[in-house]
Amino acid sequence: MNLQLILNEVADEVRNSLGKGGVANYIPALAIADPTKFAMAIATVEGEIYGVGDYGERFSIQSVSKIFALTQAFGILGSDLWRRVERENAGSEFNSLLLLELGGGIPRNPLTNAGALVTTDIILTEKGKEAKAAVLEFLRERSDNPAIGFNEEIAQLEIEHGHRTKALAHLIASFKNLENHPQTVAMLYFYQCAMEASCVDLARSLLFLANKGECPVSKKRVISASQAKRINSILLTCGHYDVSGDFAFKVGLPGKSCVSGAIVVVVPGKMAIAAWSPALNKDGVSLAASEALEIFAQKSGLSIF
Ligand code: GLU
Repeated sequence: MNLQLILNEVADEVRNSLGKGGVANYIPALAIADPTKFAMAIATVEGEIYGVGDYGERFSIQSVSKIFALTQAFGILGSDLWRRVERENAGSEFNSLLLLELGGGIPRNPLTNAGALVTTDIILTEKGKEAKAAVLEFLRERSDNPAIGFNEEIAQLEIEHGHRTKALAHLIASFKNLENHPQTVAMLYFYQCAMEASCVDLARSLLFLANKGECPVSKKRVISASQAKRINSILLTCGHYDVSGDFAFKVGLPGKSCVSGAIVVVVPGKMAIAAWSPALNKDGVSLAASEALEIFAQKSGLSIF
């Protein structure tokens, strides 16, 4: 299969959709993103890289970081993780306080903000003062890019404006499901969202999920094969806010969306893919990136089904 040719065709076909929808505007640093940008990159388990558009351009990875936090927390606690967070689709907003209240402080899944606060808390307990450096190092290693860093401005703006996330952290703490101070946990969560990576970095960084928990390039085991399978299941069922079913229906691959307009997907046994375009549809998912992945899945025939 000529992956580069398919990527070029996909980029051509989504051209008319670029700029449709609206960029996230809850912080100024995201609101200034150019809505017409588009990029897509593929990293294969054989170590090949393919890309189209602005695939080397970096953006804040926002909720894609929840995959990395989940991976690290699952690695630390093993199946005890499921005492602290469920693995059920939230069927509501990604930052719902109501759902958390009803769930007695146990978040519905690790890909909601509440769930990511719990996985972040687990990393904090394990790493202590080194936690911020450790989450950055985790992404640098996975993507094989030591230049990846935090966007300090975005981190500070998230901290300043993230009232709901901070409220979630306090609510979880009130149910005694945090071991660290909720403000410390929220701070690290926001820093993770503010890590900046490109489509190539993200595609590379998720190869371990396409290869049963081991990075096929560095041969480093990140988590067990069984844990990788479970993370992929959660990505398939919970990765796209309230429209995860729709994404699974259209694309048929485990993945995660985020407010900066990136969507990552895993093709088990074969590759990891990142698509990015900052303008979001009404469900908060990148309009052009989701279209691109749908077209890619059709053209390539790649799907887990
Ligand atoms: N930093 C964003 C928040 O916590 C991430 C949301 C997202 O990408 O879904 O609100």
